[in-house]
Formats: sequence, structure tokens, C-alpha cells
Amino acid sequence: MIPHSRPSLESEDLTGIAETLRSGQIAQGPRVERFERHLAAWLGRAGGVAASSGTAALELALRALGVGPADEVIMPSYVCAAPWHAAARLGATPRLVDISLDTFNLDPQAVARARTPRTRAIIVPHLFGLPADLPHLADLGVPLIEDCAQTLGAQVQGRTVGTVGRLTVCSFYATKLLCAGEGGMVLADEPELLARLRTWRAYDERPALTPGSFNYKLTDMQAALGLSQLARLPAFLARRATIAEQYSRGLKDLAVGLPVVPSGSTHAFYRYVLRVRAAKAKDGSRDLVGLLGRLERRGVQCRRPVFRPLHQYDQYDGEAGQAFPCSDEAWATAISIPLYPSLTDEDVARVLQALHEELA
Ligand SMILES: *Cc1c(COP(=O)(O)O)cnc(C)c1O
Repeated sequence: MIPHSRPSLESEDLTGIAETLRSGQIAQGPRVERFERHLAAWLGRAGGVAASSGTAALELALRALGVGPADEVIMPSYVCAAPWHAAARLGATPRLVDISLDTFNLDPQAVARARTPRTRAIIVPHLFGLPADLPHLADLGVPLIEDCAQTLGAQVQGRTVGTVGRLTVCSFYATKLLCAGEGGMVLADEPELLARLRTWRAYDERPALTPGSFNYKLTDMQAALGLSQLARLPAFLARRATIAEQYSRGLKDLAVGLPVVPSGSTHAFYRYVLRVRAAKAKDGSRDLVGLLGRLERRGVQCRRPVFRPLHQYDQYDGEAGQAFPCSDEAWATAISIPLYPSLTDEDVARVLQALHEELA
């Protein structure tokens, strides 16, 4: 079976973790600090504050902007549930907006319509490796939190993802572009924001018992893995680009929608997401599930790249008449096929063969 995701682990990853264990300093310490400096330098930001997960990092980023119960946070419906929970934990109201179907990213016009005097921040995920429309989103004048959990090193109109928003959040979950098992980081340029993030990250040795303070720390063991992975990130991204090219060449004759890369953008190919038009039958969801099952029986594990759009949950209490046609359509037709640096050329050929057998 070719799994949908797999971390890319090598002996140097083991060396870094073993050295950390031997040093006796295993909780947050010098390796966390070094990981923060190295990733900030790689991304082009003044500093970083590591956290226990990408979700914790999103929560810290919202806290650093002073988001609270009276505030609204705009985010796309078509994304994992992490941004929702980060906003909800602060008592803020998540305001969901639709995406652009071709890019799977926030539709800037929908964001502009959802904006109110209470909008305190926009969480901007760059989904699947493709940058969101940062130039237009930045024009809105609302603080942006770039969610780079799925995209590093990609460009949009001459800007690099992760350098535009007031804050940028990364995730080092096992299957992300750069992994530490679990983990996250918030990056920013303003010293005051970075100082606030550090204050919220730990609970002890503070002048006051500030409600909301908690333990969001990363360990030096995880940071050691993050550092050895970061050293290979350029090679990871190059291998991903090569595999994506092989897929695009191998799939161009099938009646499927291939990833769109708008002019002026580059794609980091965290995921290779196809839109399967055949699944747009009366019961789109069941068709997609059937296709995923048949591919799995052929030894290729594919997945819906987003478990469920946020507006489809019962807990979402949206405005009357609010619709999310592009998020619904993406959910009904998008599948993600295996793409990670340790995928071999033979694996790629097997994935292509299974897709041809099921979709030709
Ligand atoms: C993975 C992910 C997160 C959450 O990161 P965790 O480290 O799993 O908490 C947030 N946003 C996006 C877009 C993600 O892909």
C-alpha cells in the first residue's frame, strides 16, 4: 500500500534526537531557541516563538493581537478545524467565508464582504502549497495571520508566503512539509508581538496569574528533529516539485481538474489535489468515497484534503442565506493523491496507473 502521507526521516534526524537525549536538556532549551532563529532566518522574519502545535501557535497569534470575546476572526470554511478552535478558545466569533474554487484559497471579495467593525484578524491559510491572494488580502487593512502549515517557500506576485502577514504560523505535525512529530511556531517582525507571544507561551515566573497563560512549549527533542528537517527543506521542496511535474504530465489526458497555478505564483506542492468531475453526480459525496475505496483496493491511499468544510458542522451558526458553493464543490470533488519526498519514481508510476485504471 502506498500511504497518503509519510514523514521523510533519515539517520541525521536520529543523530540530532540522540544528541539531545544525551545532553540531558530535553524540555524547551537551546535547540528550541536555535530552531526559532533558523526558521525565522529561512523565512525572512525577525523572530519566531515555537509552540506545542500549529493550533497552539494560531491561538498565541490571535492572543498577541489582543483578540477577545467581542471580536470576529475571518477564516475560510474550506480548511481544517484548527483556526476555528483557536478563535473559539478566545471567545471570538469565527466568520467563515467561501474560497475561490480554482485555488482552494480565500476569496478576497468574500473576505471584504464579511468584514465588519468587529473584525480583528483574518486567518489566511495557504492551502496545499499554493499561496493565497496576499496582495489583495493585505489591501483590506486588517491584520493578517498567515497560516503556513501547508506552504513554505512559495511566491505570490513577488512576495514570499510567511513574510506578508503581521504574524505567520507554522505546523510541524508528522506529515507536514517539515516535521517534528508535533509542534508549531509563530513568526513576526515586531519585537513587541514576539515578546507578547513568549509571555503567553509559559505559565510560570510571571508577576501575575494572567488568565489564559498556559503551557504551549515545544521540547528540545522536537526542535532537534525540526532543525535536521529544516536543513533538508530545500531538497524536500525540490523533490515535491519533481513529483508534481510527473503527476501533471501523467494525468493531463484524464478528465480531471489538475492543480491550478495562477501566473505570478509558485506552488510548494504539499498536496497534489485533483478535482474529479465525475464525482459531481447527484450524490457527490458517496461517489468520492467509492472512488477513494477503489483506489485503496488498488494499493493507493488517497484522501479528501479537507475533512469537512467548517460551515457544514452543526455548530456553525451562520447568517441566514449564507452559502459556500465553492467550499461545497471542493469538498464534493477534490481528492489528494500521495506526494512526499520519500515517494519513489516506482511509487509515482503506480499511483498514475491506479488513477488511469479508475478514471480513464
Ligand atoms: C495542520 C494544520 C494546522 C494545525 O496544525 P497542528 O500542528 O496539527 O495543530 C492549522 N492549519 C492548517 C492549514 C493545517 O494544515
